[in-house]
Amino acid sequence: MKGKMKAQVFYEKEVMKLEEVDIPEVHANEVLIRVRACGVCGSDISYYYAHTPLDTPNGRGPLILGHEFCGDVVEVGQMAKDMQLFKPGDRVIANPVQNCFACPQCLKHEYNLCTHTRTKGVGYDGAYAEYAVVNYTHLYHMPKDMTYEEGAICEPVACATYGVSKLEIKVGDVVAVIGPGNIGLSMIQLIKAKGAGKIIALGVLDYGLEKAMEMGADAVLNTLDRNSKYYTDDPVRTVSEITGGSMADKVIVPTAAIPALEQALDISGLHSRITYFGMPRPEDVLKVNLSKLITMDKTINVSWLAPNSWDEAIKAISEKKIDASKLITHRFGLDDVEKAIRFMGDNSQPEKVKSIIVM
Ligand SMILES: [Zn+2]
Ligand SMILES: [Zn+2]
Repeated sequence: MKGKMKAQVFYEKEVMKLEEVDIPEVHANEVLIRVRACGVCGSDISYYYAHTPLDTPNGRGPLILGHEFCGDVVEVGQMAKDMQLFKPGDRVIANPVQNCFACPQCLKHEYNLCTHTRTKGVGYDGAYAEYAVVNYTHLYHMPKDMTYEEGAICEPVACATYGVSKLEIKVGDVVAVIGPGNIGLSMIQLIKAKGAGKIIALGVLDYGLEKAMEMGADAVLNTLDRNSKYYTDDPVRTVSEITGGSMADKVIVPTAAIPALEQALDISGLHSRITYFGMPRPEDVLKVNLSKLITMDKTINVSWLAPNSWDEAIKAISEKKIDASKLITHRFGLDDVEKAIRFMGDNSQPEKVKSIIVM
C-alpha cells in the first residue's frame, strides 16, 4: 500500500518526533498491519533515555520504537497470500521477536537463542506508527472476544508465561514473586492459575503490593518502606513465619536489582527452584553461597524472551486468567508516545502498572 503514515521516530536520547513517513513496503514474506494498540515496555524507556543501545548497526536511531502490538491486516505479501494464512481485515497479534526458523537453534525450537532474530521496534521499525509490517511467521490470529488492548499485552504476558513455566509449579507450592510490576503481576495471575498453594509478593512500593493482592497474592511484604503497613525488617523471618518454617518452594524474580536476586536465595527452601527473569547490566555479578545451594538441593534457572509460550499466553488472556483491565492503568494516543514513555519512566509517580498507546 503506497502512501504516508504518522509515526513516532526516535532519534537519540530524549528526542522523538511525530513525522509523516512512507508506509512500509510489504515484501513477499510480510504482512502489513494497521496498528490498533501498542504497549509501552520498560525497554522502550531504556532506549528513550539511551540507557540501552538499540539493535541497529550503530546502536542509534532513527527508528520507530514499539514492539508490543496488535492490529488489523491491510495487505498480505505473496507467500502468506499463497498459503491463505491471512487476509485483509483479520485481527492479528504480532510477535516482534522474529527468529529465522532455519538456524541450528531454531531447528531445536530454541527460538530465543536464534542469532538471526530481527526484533520489531528494537532493530527494525516497530509499531508507534499507524502501520507496521511483520513476517507472516510471527503473527497470531486474535481470538474473537479479545480486545486490542488485550492483544497489546500478549508479548509481555508471553515472556511472563515462559518465566513461570521455568518454575515447574506443582499444585500447592508456595511461590514467591519479587517485584510486583507489570510482569510480576502477570506472573502472579499465571501462578494462581497453576494451582499454587500460597503466593507471597515482595516489593518496595505499596501500590504494586496492593495490586498483587488484587491479582491473588496471599501475603505481601514491603522490604524497604518503613512507613508501609506491609513493611518487614526481616523478610527471611517473615517468609519463615508465613510458611511454617519451610520457606518458598519456588521464587521468581522479574527485576534485575541484585538485592532482589539475593533475597530469592534467602527465602527459598529445600529442593526449591529459583527463576531469574529481569535483565541485568553486563557488569552485574551475583554472589551465591554454593555450599547452601548444593546442600539444600536448590535449582537456579533463568528466563529469556518467550519461546514456545505465545499460545499459552494468548489463551490465558482470552480466558481472563490474566485480567488486562487490572494491568492496563493508563492510555495515550499516538501523538503522546513521548509523554507516555516519560510518565512510565518517572519514579516520582508510582501509581501505574502498564501504559498502552491506543490508535
Ligand atoms: Zn516489551
Ligand atoms: Zn534461527
